[in-house]
Amino acid sequence: MTVAAPRIRMLIDGQFVESASSNWQNVVNPATQDVLAQVPFATVSEVDAAVAAAKEAFKTWRKTPIGTRARIFLKYQQLIREHMSELAHILSAEQGKTLPDAEGDVFRGLEVVEHAAAIGNLQLGELANNVANGVDTYTLLQPLGVCAGITPFNFPAMIPLWMFPMAIATGNTFILKPSEQDPMVTMRLVELALEAGIPKGVLNVVHGGEEVVNAICDHPDIKAVSFVGSTRVGTHVYNRASLAGKRVQCMMGAKNHAVVLPDANKEQSLNAMVGAAFGAAGQRCMAASTLVLVGEAREWVPDLVAKAKTLKVSGGTVAGTDVGPVISCAARERVEGLIASGVEQGAKLVLDGRNPQVDGFEKGNFVGPTIFSGVKPGMRIYDEEIFGPVLVILEVDTLEDAIELINANPNGNGTAVFTQSGAAARKFQEDIDVGQVGINVPIPVPVPLFSFTGSRASKLGDLGPYGKQVVMFYTQTKTITSRWFDDETLGHGVNTTISL
Ligand code: NAD
Repeated sequence: MTVAAPRIRMLIDGQFVESASSNWQNVVNPATQDVLAQVPFATVSEVDAAVAAAKEAFKTWRKTPIGTRARIFLKYQQLIREHMSELAHILSAEQGKTLPDAEGDVFRGLEVVEHAAAIGNLQLGELANNVANGVDTYTLLQPLGVCAGITPFNFPAMIPLWMFPMAIATGNTFILKPSEQDPMVTMRLVELALEAGIPKGVLNVVHGGEEVVNAICDHPDIKAVSFVGSTRVGTHVYNRASLAGKRVQCMMGAKNHAVVLPDANKEQSLNAMVGAAFGAAGQRCMAASTLVLVGEAREWVPDLVAKAKTLKVSGGTVAGTDVGPVISCAARERVEGLIASGVEQGAKLVLDGRNPQVDGFEKGNFVGPTIFSGVKPGMRIYDEEIFGPVLVILEVDTLEDAIELINANPNGNGTAVFTQSGAAARKFQEDIDVGQVGINVPIPVPVPLFSFTGSRASKLGDLGPYGKQVVMFYTQTKTITSRWFDDETLGHGVNTTISL
């Protein structure tokens, strides 16, 4: 007898409910093809119900004291810590990444929850005393109302945690639309959020794809939308939701270049590159997927290949695994197609990871570490985001050439330079047109004291997720100009000139 896969529920007005949709999709373990659950593609009326619940809850949540809100996130961070191992196992099973990397995914989200617990320090207004006689001006950072978040498959713990804790801690209510490819760990995190004390209607979850996302973009009662995912979908969401009058921030695709100068510490730089290119099977928006070797550093390719060959490709739950499967069969075929195009377009395939033998996981979507050298702009493997364990190498003569190359690429998520020269690092930092820069750090994702600041084609909207910027994103600044009359400040009749 086959047991039916569990059906993933939505969260509407504090209740976990089954969707009335007739359209369900399997959530599949990418290492085994086992069906773990079924996820609904919710109906538009279910989106409406979630928004109505969030709108109602906003009436009281917006007036809930800062300390009361913050204490929920103090409890929430503790619950996440206590459930770290369980969360990592759920995440690894549905997403494929290794257990230690899955814990890292949860941990980077946990840091945002900790930050949300201290939100009072960031949601402070300003006051100027005596801007005119007896007049003070001050600002309030007030929550917007119902906000929504749409998340990708590659960080199913961290990215939802970039969104709803900060939105809710600042006094908003929230609709979350997780990735339909791996919604299970997200739902476990949502259960823990309710256990921590988030009141009914303050956090709601609807599942689905295009139709649900479009309903979110169009809904008149949603005030702001935060999106993380591909450039194609993010551009659509930005345009559609902006047209409907919302605040929108979209963090999108990337092609992150790491520059290695010949004076870099060779061992450290190559280790960092291998980890940053192939970790999470290359499915990180900040993966260092493009290596620019400068001058004599070109000679380091064989050492890099030797290091990449030592990585263990296997199921994410197997101890010692470095590279797990990619998310789906379709993703594997896409990555293999791009590798084939690299060969056809004349790049040199110095390590071919296609069709690896993975004992015990013969049905998994595996691609092993793959490296191309001699890559040039115009080749698909350079022009497109591969989002798999494929590193492309370009060679240039000088640091200036490397900077010119990177600045000519449309993407601007992250970049890194490896060098022992402070002057070279400083030049890179000053002249590079990319929003997040690592100096001997391959994946420079800022901690939540700062904000995620991807730029150019990797981002639409002004303000990034988490940190100070997202407090501005999730609040409306209200400026109050105030005068209180007493005997000394009584007015002197009608005055029709522009003054206070
Ligand atoms: P995706 O764009 O396919 O999906 C993202 C979300 O959009 C999902 O919730 C999905 O259900 C929804 N969606 C998919 N197709 C849609 C459509 N036609 N209309 C409306 N909504 C739709 O992205 P993905 O494959 O899940 O994630 C990988 C991408 O995300 C990569 O490009 C990666 O670089 C990017 N990413 C960027 C960042 C960043 O911070 N810049 C972080 C993580 C991932």
